[in-house]
Amino acid sequence: MPVQAAAHGLVSRALKNGVIAKTGCAVCGNPKVEGHHDDYSKPLEVIWLCRPHHKERHVRLAREGRDPAKLIRYQGKRVPKPRSKRRNK
Ligand SMILES: [Zn+2]
Ligand SMILES: [Zn+2]
Repeated sequence: MPVQAAAHGLVSRALKNGVIAKTGCAVCGNPKVEGHHDDYSKPLEVIWLCRPHHKERHVRLAREGRDPAKLIRYQGKRVPKPRSKRRNK
């Protein structure tokens, strides 16, 4: 399962169990929110943002070079090659 989907699954379960609660948009208080993760390795650290502010946050994160979605793709490209470790002399 992709990391993002796993995180979203965890969030919806945590919401159902009352572990975390949905709030209004962290920026403007709009009650129509989407869950956002700055870091998918911390799936329960959700930031609730309305659609425009959610988009805005991704734009800003991307500009800073730490868009969580892009980071995952980037890491996925680099990780599956542990070949350089065992080098023949
Ligand atoms: Zn907002
Ligand atoms: Zn997001």
